[in-house]
Amino acid sequence: MTESLPPSRPRIPGAGLAKGLAVTLRTMTRKTVTEQYPDVQPELPPRTRGVIGLFEENCTVCMLCARECPDWCIYIDSHKETVPAAVEGGRERSRNVLDRFAIDFALCMYCGICIEVCPFDALFWSPEFEYAETDIHELTHERDRLREWMWTVPAPPALDPAAEEPKELAAARKAADKLAAAQAAAAEEAVPGEPTPGEPTPGEEGPA
Ligand code: SF4
Ligand code: SF4
Repeated sequence: MTESLPPSRPRIPGAGLAKGLAVTLRTMTRKTVTEQYPDVQPELPPRTRGVIGLFEENCTVCMLCARECPDWCIYIDSHKETVPAAVEGGRERSRNVLDRFAIDFALCMYCGICIEVCPFDALFWSPEFEYAETDIHELTHERDRLREWMWTVPAPPALDPAAEEPKELAAARKAADKLAAAQAAAAEEAVPGEPTPGEPTPGEEGPA
């Protein structure tokens, strides 16, 4: 069985041209979205994923970031160091010392997994993006360069005034209150005329 085709509309001469001109006119009157970079710097959102900064002091060389990176583009080298016992008869400890920390931004896909998984807050996003290179090898940023990016990491946003107090602050406040209460109790229990614990006795000299 053959299906009958719908009747074709009569063609209006110049309709296509008028349609095209209407599109051109509409686009001409719209606000431009083109950024005039590099003459004008773009206004980027504060949490833009530009480059990764390393806060080396926080890094414990746990290797979690390197293991979780889907591109295997984080290179870490370290060695172990023995820390002598803090007290006589105590046990020596060993700690990891960072020798190399590098990220190959030619491979990085800016997924942010390394920053998310770092348990010690050693990695941060910086919105800086002007580090294009003519040599691909230069896109491997070594530890010193990663540290330099830390200066460009924006400060964290202010806390919502109605937000719950951060756990760390609450714990620190609790510990300070407990200590103050213990000191007040010790001062009350102290026999008049006798020094309270922690106070120097009369005639006793303080540290030089
Ligand atoms: S952002 Fe993603 S791809 Fe880039 S180094 Fe981190 S984990 Fe790897
Ligand atoms: S996860 Fe964090 S602490 Fe662990 S090696 Fe990576 S940067 Fe260092």
